[in-house]
Amino acid sequence: MKKRSYIRPLVQHLHAYVPGEQPKIKGLVKLNTNENPYPPSPKVLAAVKAAVDGRLRLYPNPTAEKLRQKLAKLHGCKPENIIIGNGSDEVLALATRTFVEPAGTAGTKTAASVIQYFIPSYSLYPVLADIQGATQNAVPLKPDFSMPSLAELKKGKQWNFRAALTFVTTPNAPGGRGYATAALAKLCRAQEGVVILDEAYVDFAEENALAVALKLPNVLVARTFSKAYSLCFQRVGYFVGHADLIAAMDKVRDSYNVNGLGQIAAEATLDDLKFYRANFKKIIATRTTLTRELTQLGFRVLPSQTNFILARPPLFPAEQWLQKLRDRKILVRWFRAPAVREYLRITIGTPAEAKALTAAVRDIMNGQS
Ligand SMILES: *Cc1c(COP(=O)(O)O)cnc(C)c1O
Repeated sequence: MKKRSYIRPLVQHLHAYVPGEQPKIKGLVKLNTNENPYPPSPKVLAAVKAAVDGRLRLYPNPTAEKLRQKLAKLHGCKPENIIIGNGSDEVLALATRTFVEPAGTAGTKTAASVIQYFIPSYSLYPVLADIQGATQNAVPLKPDFSMPSLAELKKGKQWNFRAALTFVTTPNAPGGRGYATAALAKLCRAQEGVVILDEAYVDFAEENALAVALKLPNVLVARTFSKAYSLCFQRVGYFVGHADLIAAMDKVRDSYNVNGLGQIAAEATLDDLKFYRANFKKIIATRTTLTRELTQLGFRVLPSQTNFILARPPLFPAEQWLQKLRDRKILVRWFRAPAVREYLRITIGTPAEAKALTAAVRDIMNGQS
């Protein structure tokens, strides 16, 4: 008799999410995971340090109440419109568990099991769908990574207007393009299911779609303290949206999902937004300079509303560029997926890091390897 496996078949066959590398190489210029090159505000560091004492034995606030109050004030809504997660990855996972039926569940209609997203976009979505046992509908963006119009989606026939859950990364990753709020609102109005507008990079963009989430009953905007607010390490992200959607996810959420130091760091961040807005400006300025310089060197750089650029390098395949840059202690990201395999995704670092990158590029192009 065949020995029984301890692991669910679904999990046995699961392709897990592949995070960007976090190597500890001395002197490495790390431009591969869209971290902010600038540290958190000194006030945030002080608040976290001041909280590290005997109180670590206590459970944190289970609903991150203070943080939700501060965010509600910032966004012009109520705390009931906000749920906090252990990074926005956790709230994305919570949404799949709350809104999507596993495929093949007795009595469910097919659309109830559909998770839909554009490709290329955040590569976590298909993994979340697989974990939930959902049906995936991956619909290509246009060749320049812009979003198809509603008319184009209708005509294309592949888009599912009844999908239980639709993810839209806006501004897009890894493409970098920002999508117009008016176009997003149109799409959200046309969807029968829940739409998540994943705004992880929105602080580097010209527009945001928060008003859509505060108006329509089926829309959630996902935000994170990781990228723009230099808090990847602390893991704090959240949704803003209709109180009914938030309340449903709150039933599924683990009781103490957001760690106490993370709550304190995020609260202190909101007390010092001026500090961060200055950094956004610096990063956007570096993005402009780097785009110009790489373009002059023969790269095709896509327009970006994020803290990274997607660039198609000249002379060698992108995968070779990845290695050649790495040999010069510069780490960028390359994705094997067909739509983006000719590109490098490069996080915007400090001006000095951008300089190191362009110097390495010149060195490679001069054949001095
Ligand atoms: C980084 C990223 C996230 C996850 O952010 P965390 O809050 O660190 O979990 C979500 N969506 C997109 C598109 C991202 O790039």
